[in-house]
Amino acid sequence: MKSATPYRGRLAPSPTGLLHLGHARTFWIASERAREAGGSLVLRSDDLDAARFRMDYAEAMLEDLRWLGLRWEEGPDKGGPFAPYEQSRRMPHYRRALEALHARGAIYPCSRSRRDVVEAAGAPHEGGADEEPLYPASFRPPADAPLPPLGTSVAVNWRLRVPDGQVVRFTDTRLGEQRAVAGVDFGDFPVWRKDDCPSYQLACTVDDALMGITEVVRGEDLVRSTFRQLLVYSALGLEAPLFHHCPLMKDDAGLRLAKRHDALSLRTLRERGERPEAVLASFAAAGS
Ligand code: GLU
Repeated sequence: MKSATPYRGRLAPSPTGLLHLGHARTFWIASERAREAGGSLVLRSDDLDAARFRMDYAEAMLEDLRWLGLRWEEGPDKGGPFAPYEQSRRMPHYRRALEALHARGAIYPCSRSRRDVVEAAGAPHEGGADEEPLYPASFRPPADAPLPPLGTSVAVNWRLRVPDGQVVRFTDTRLGEQRAVAGVDFGDFPVWRKDDCPSYQLACTVDDALMGITEVVRGEDLVRSTFRQLLVYSALGLEAPLFHHCPLMKDDAGLRLAKRHDALSLRTLRERGERPEAVLASFAAAGS
């Protein structure tokens, strides 16, 4: 693991809706950690979800974060040494990573539907509805089966073969020691989709590594993704950053905030005349 100096953090919003208070709080924590470490902050637009991407959301998220008082040194609006900072413009990097995984035999093509996997996996996983069901080992091709070529345009899902039984660990800078068992707590997961697009796990890992991020700050709902990403780092021979998972914000009914909570979007608060200082003060009062 990398030492945290010189610190490089990142904000990685997805332009698929308006940012709400929960995102804002995570981004505020990320920016405070970068500031306290005397480091720099990168803004990366996670705009790979073509079906949900909207240009107006991409503009709104930058504007809303600026309104809140957050600043970054590199990003789509600023440029920087690791440009471009929009994932949709970084395909060659992801493709190179896919080819490296293919050359190492770390992945395999999978034509099972999500439904096949859900049915075979039985009871939903502990992680709840957001979690991928455990991919059944019986669906895998044998480890020594020759891999078909990737082709110039990928038309099938490719999954990473996780090392069954291997304990994956990291020391979260907030939560402390974390461990999960590959093949038990999570199974083989997609790195590339049949619509010829990298998965979040692959794109995020490649970008955090190539952009020299030293600490990834994100919501606690992504701890299981972090374990998966650690396996991608290791399969690609990349050094993993530190991780800091923030508590999730809940609404009054105790539900996790989501983009559907329009009333709690930064945009709505701003239109209602809330002051950014008051929003930040409420985050500071809640602690990080
Ligand atoms: N764009 C992702 C999200 O908004 C980023 C998650 C992460 O920080 O890795 O959920």
